[in-house]
Amino acid sequence: MIHHPQRFVDVILPLPLPGKFTYSVPEEMNGELQPGVRVIVQFGKKKFYSALIHRIHNEEPSGYEIKSIETVLDKQPVVHPELFEFWEWIASYYHCSLGEVMKAALPSGLKLESETRVIFNPEFEEDKNDLSSRERLILTFLRIRKISSVSDLNRADEKGNAYSVIKSLLSRGAISVEESLRSGYKPRTETFVRLAEAYSGESRLTELVDDLSRAPKQQELLMRFLEYTRFGNEEAIPEYSKKRLLEKVGTTTATLNTLIKKGVFELAERRVDRLSQYAGNIREGFELSQAQEQAYAEIEQNLEEKQVTLLHGVTSSGKTEIYIRLIKKYIQENKQVLYLLPEIALTTQIVQRLKQVFGDKAGIYHSRFNDAERVEIWNKVLNFDPESDENQYQVIIGARSSVFLPYRFPGLIIVDEEHENSYKQFDPAPRYHARDAAIVLSHLTGARVLLGTATPAIESYFNALSGKYGLVELSERFKQIELPKILTADLRDAYKRKQMRGHFTPLLFEEIEKALEANEQVILFQNRRGFAPFIECKTCGWVPKCKHCDVSLTYHKHNNSLVCHYCGYTIHHPTNCQACGSNEINTKGFGTEKIEDEVSLIFPEARIARMDLDTTRARKSFEKIIHDYDSGKIDILIGTQMVTKGLDFQNVSVVGILNADNLLNYPDFRAYERSYQLMAQVSGRAGRKYRQGKVIIQTSEPDHHIIQQVIQNDYLGMYKGQLAERKHFKYPPYYRLIGLVLKHRDKREVERIANQLASMLKRSFRSRVLGPEDPVINRIQNWYIKQFWLKIEREISIVSAKKKLQEILDEVKTQPGNSGVQINIDVDPM
Ligand code: ADP
Ligand code: ZN
Ligand code: ZN
Repeated sequence: MIHHPQRFVDVILPLPLPGKFTYSVPEEMNGELQPGVRVIVQFGKKKFYSALIHRIHNEEPSGYEIKSIETVLDKQPVVHPELFEFWEWIASYYHCSLGEVMKAALPSGLKLESETRVIFNPEFEEDKNDLSSRERLILTFLRIRKISSVSDLNRADEKGNAYSVIKSLLSRGAISVEESLRSGYKPRTETFVRLAEAYSGESRLTELVDDLSRAPKQQELLMRFLEYTRFGNEEAIPEYSKKRLLEKVGTTTATLNTLIKKGVFELAERRVDRLSQYAGNIREGFELSQAQEQAYAEIEQNLEEKQVTLLHGVTSSGKTEIYIRLIKKYIQENKQVLYLLPEIALTTQIVQRLKQVFGDKAGIYHSRFNDAERVEIWNKVLNFDPESDENQYQVIIGARSSVFLPYRFPGLIIVDEEHENSYKQFDPAPRYHARDAAIVLSHLTGARVLLGTATPAIESYFNALSGKYGLVELSERFKQIELPKILTADLRDAYKRKQMRGHFTPLLFEEIEKALEANEQVILFQNRRGFAPFIECKTCGWVPKCKHCDVSLTYHKHNNSLVCHYCGYTIHHPTNCQACGSNEINTKGFGTEKIEDEVSLIFPEARIARMDLDTTRARKSFEKIIHDYDSGKIDILIGTQMVTKGLDFQNVSVVGILNADNLLNYPDFRAYERSYQLMAQVSGRAGRKYRQGKVIIQTSEPDHHIIQQVIQNDYLGMYKGQLAERKHFKYPPYYRLIGLVLKHRDKREVERIANQLASMLKRSFRSRVLGPEDPVINRIQNWYIKQFWLKIEREISIVSAKKKLQEILDEVKTQPGNSGVQINIDVDPM
């Protein structure tokens, strides 16, 4: 092969700077480089980054001194260069740099920077002969220091550049990078039984088997070992997992130990694939019901004709079973499938259901996984080979960032619960929407997209009705179980008549009581966590607020503290009012913790669990609550919207929504749409298996049209009403929104700059500018915040609008005195 001289590369640096950066290629690296390969380059005076090669060329740039590449990290690309087109779309549409997209796309294990902190793994068993002298040096350094930055390791390395050493140690599991610390990283090892060298010859072995005839258990163990390892078929010394061997043979460790003492076997620790292997039984998908069969056929038809299809199926209609059937079809065609789910739903039953059908063909990509696991999945997706028979990941089940995995043969992308706003990344940039990104990816790769939900986003339904997307409706529940019966309980009335018990109306109270008597389960939904949203002095009205944010502190009873839900600032509950000294301090409003407290008093016999951000921080706690509830160890589950995410329980007969008013009254143009979605989704948890369930909505406005629409399961009514509002007030889907967020440490400065920006914006965008406004919380972590909205007609080119916008922002930022301002752009804010 002839290598053409490679003189320059353009790389993507993981930085919020526009453009690509050019470096020269040292002669010895000539021929090694390809687009998509990572290299270490210096940027700025001291900093080193792993950058991605975007293009290789011979065009010498002029005007600045060119640095050369320090190190090449990969032999093969870690990203298919074809994917860059997708990255470029994200960068351009969501208005950020390619580097920011790179940061979002690559798992941290593939992103080394000089500031990255590297951590020693105490459980790593070092095999001296395996490591190079440089690797041993770095490992020793780390063993003493426990944790160190990449730049310190560079100094320790004999060549002054430890990147390739770090990379190799990372892949052995000897070290990890910082993120792993938080997720409790441990490389998985497993004990293997291996045949001692001395017995590896055929004749010695035959002798041995004869010798053991008086120890039948030992003999059996040996024979089975040889059978499982298919001794004789392979050159290598046979090994087998100790655990599995003992399980399969059904013998004790004692037998094995005897053979080890006799020198027949040895034990060896082996690092195994961290991605745990599926151990359960594989089942076929269920046979579809007639209605499901019909929907499936329509979906197939639509997928042939349209890029995107929306499946609007009521809760518990069996959407998951339909997805399963569809995924099977794409697997048979040797395609890759991406199944997107909201983050939290990834830890639940849905994943188990999919694992049951797809076993080790299904991989999960999740933020609670550590770096090494994520890098392994990345590589498996990257190296997927449609021709190979080996068990490979062909179905990826993942949260929004899995849209960035390097698929080469994607056939289908399913976006489950497509209405969920957690598909949108708020911070940092890229502020992308995974559903919309998936649709763009499908256009670039030829894959198809299926959106599924019981409560479509207004934008999606709009696209479906206008013919842009295919639309499939599935309006009956599986086994034709009726949708739950929804009743309202009038809060105002119950308070007036003094009938409330804590936050429970008589109706909700009675229904819970009946359910408990019948041994059925209850779900109680309250939108807020904590005990009380705030406390207030009864005498003077003083409310304790966060020092850093403009928000009142939330009372948490279990540790008697007041916590800021925006920054985590925590203080002890004061005994006296800090304004007037009074000791009469009241709690106001209520959160999940308060409800839990009340339930335990009102229903002392019931077994209760609470599911919210506070109780599910640990990696497995969410699963545990779900599992306990599912297996009937819990009677009443109290939770925030987490209880709505893709859960399928058999025995829930009552769902209570404690206060619908605070959903409806949220100041946002999507508040009604979201309230509808939330209430319909929570209600959908009731009566899924055997018979009709009941839902009680507590509200002071029982006649509110949104509540009435929830009761009548009138999605279309909600949709039409909201659409009219959207049109009238110039919101999506008729207009595009671009949000601008200004932050400054100084309150007066942010106001001044916001006003300056306002007049400049209005000169170009006129009445399309809304703002400056105070957001709901106008100070977070000591940043004062102002916001704007631009409402842009669909007919206007968004590209030129954004270009104009960028010009204005650049101008504002470079004005004297404006350097302290930060401005974020959020395209299609949620
Ligand atoms: P959805 O995702 O639409 O809310 P699910 O797929 O979770 O609905 O289905 C609801 C319940 O009905 C689940 O327990 C599921 O296993 C069961 N189910 C759905 N379709 C079938 C089927 N064809 N055969 C057997 N069980 C089914
Ligand atoms: Zn007071
Ligand atoms: Zn705060």
